[in-house]
Amino acid sequence: MATPRRSFRALVLAAATLLLAAPVSAQQWLNAEPNPKTNKSSFRAVEEFPDPNDYRTASGAPGPKYWQQRVDYAIKASLDTATHTVTGSERVTYHNNSPDKLEYLWFQLDQNIDDPAVSRTIKDAPALPRQLSEQARRFLAPEPFDGGHKITRVQLVSTRAGKVQKTDVEYVVNGTVMKVPLTTPLLSGREAVVEIDWHFIVPETSRNGRGVREQVKDGWLYEVAQWFPRASVYDDVNGWQTDQFYGTGEFYLNFGSYDVELTVPHDHIVGATGVLLNPVQVLTGTQRQRLAQALASETPKFILAKDEVMTPGSRPPGTQPLTWKFHADSVRDFAWVSSKAYVWDAAGFRYRPGGRVIELHSLYPRDAMPLWDSLSTRAIAQTMRTYGRLAFEYPYPKATNVHGPVFGMEYPMIAFCGARPAADGSYTPGLARALISVTIHEVGHNWFPMIVASDERKWTWMDEGINSFLQYYAEKDWDPAYPSQRGPAKNIVPYMKDPDQMPLMTESDFITGRTFGNNGYGKPAAGLVMLREQVLGPRLFDQAFGQYARRWAFKHPQPADFFRTVDDGAGELLNWFWRGWFYTTYANDQAVTEVDAQPADSLIGTTSRGKNYVRIKIENKGGLVMPVQMDVTFDDGTTERVKLGADVWRRNEQSYTYGFFSDKTVTKVVLDPDEVLADINRDNNVWTKGPPPTS
Ligand SMILES: [Zn+2]
Repeated sequence: MATPRRSFRALVLAAATLLLAAPVSAQQWLNAEPNPKTNKSSFRAVEEFPDPNDYRTASGAPGPKYWQQRVDYAIKASLDTATHTVTGSERVTYHNNSPDKLEYLWFQLDQNIDDPAVSRTIKDAPALPRQLSEQARRFLAPEPFDGGHKITRVQLVSTRAGKVQKTDVEYVVNGTVMKVPLTTPLLSGREAVVEIDWHFIVPETSRNGRGVREQVKDGWLYEVAQWFPRASVYDDVNGWQTDQFYGTGEFYLNFGSYDVELTVPHDHIVGATGVLLNPVQVLTGTQRQRLAQALASETPKFILAKDEVMTPGSRPPGTQPLTWKFHADSVRDFAWVSSKAYVWDAAGFRYRPGGRVIELHSLYPRDAMPLWDSLSTRAIAQTMRTYGRLAFEYPYPKATNVHGPVFGMEYPMIAFCGARPAADGSYTPGLARALISVTIHEVGHNWFPMIVASDERKWTWMDEGINSFLQYYAEKDWDPAYPSQRGPAKNIVPYMKDPDQMPLMTESDFITGRTFGNNGYGKPAAGLVMLREQVLGPRLFDQAFGQYARRWAFKHPQPADFFRTVDDGAGELLNWFWRGWFYTTYANDQAVTEVDAQPADSLIGTTSRGKNYVRIKIENKGGLVMPVQMDVTFDDGTTERVKLGADVWRRNEQSYTYGFFSDKTVTKVVLDPDEVLADINRDNNVWTKGPPPTS
């Protein structure tokens, strides 16, 4: 039906063109001037979006047949501080909710990145700096280190006639993944139980970069992560997601429950994912009393103060190793820390008076004071507030921030942050901000990707980018003048000019190291801030974004699920934005190329609307279509702000002419005056009336 009508319109337009005797072909009237880079319209449907199906709908929601696997873990592990070895035994209950029959299960063995025999590296050897830090020296010329998961038992557990049977299986390790064959295929709706024993040495430096140990004044700090064989994800998009772990692309994991028992030296304090089940066994009476008091208020209180670190009274009587028991539901991973060096403060957070209490904890050695005691727990509370407002309220009962060697890393309910004062206790304002920002960021990861559980190994922007976007608003809430690094459009301009830029829709392990931060974090954060503030406005954006967060909470969204949900929630097809910002490396470079004014009395019947008819011509030089914002200054010294949507480029992506009537004379035009649209070349953003300046 649409085609004949268009043809008719074409004829009318062609006739009108002939009547006006202008040398314009009908073709030119009909077709948009396409994008100067692609020669196609940026507004057309995005071909890269997969077709919607029963699992993922066209509106970006989980479909009627959406499914995901569930994996429950019961783990017992111990830490030997003489050899820095973690020895564990796990029982994995794998629930097959897929419609498929599975012949085997895949597991992730991320510690194997430090196994010299595996050697799955994709990074160039770095050039030697003149001064080599001890850490860098160990990285470049490591002591022989027997890293990696040492698997000592894999058994299938079955129950027949009330009798439990355990069967050895011939598992196969390929780099950082392990295949566990099933003796009988696992049917849809059934579960398989696997038991695995393993041990590994917690590295001091790791290609993994996330779970390491460090010796500080008061002893070793252990940050234990990627530490147990974790089931790979089997989903409707990848089948088995067995992408190898190269150290960059992170972790795609299943939801489930965890019962974890950690046996550590008597003098250690343990922090972990999940709620502590046996405080009576592992804390002193005083500590339990202080904890109850601390949780009653949002003002942090010490559970174990600086002067009490490593004193006999800070631990229950005895000398034998203690077993700390934790339980967590609906989490996709489990991490823990252990040290005798920890100071411990805590507070309680409530979204509303009388509401449920969320435990906030901070663990840090005395080396991290004074700084951590004044900022860490407060920064966790800030994260609860801002992310709770923009995404959803924190559903877990607890959040812990831990100081140690890892600069910044996230796990469900527990985050690692490395910002540390100088040895004399002094610190710069920048370091204090690093603690605030990294804490917000890592705790913020509970929302993305710990709960809105995207495929991190492939799509960095879906967790790091969205999280950096929310981090920006949490920083603003902390202090409206906070000098945020990621979020403001002008901070991404250097990257938008970088010839090595790669599209955001590049899988994590293809992104080159130098550009990784801008690609994974900076550009998506700046883009979403632009979308919220300049394209949709906060009200519409927040509704659409909140919809995405809530509908994919505890599920596995893919990129198109995000794009489609925002389109759906905002009531607008944002093809131009998703294509331009996520699928290309084109930049916004708008230029004001012509400003002309005609006396309006030459135009019949228009004098009442102003003496002059002004036209401002803007050209798209960068290929990225973006809204237009300009300040127009007049001869009486006044300035008017003009804001136009990106739709001005819909018919012609090469130039747009804006026209208006005015009694005044335009003296100056400035494009993107607030630097909120990441225009990469400001030299062509200004037009000034008058003779060109003499040089
Ligand atoms: Zn992050």
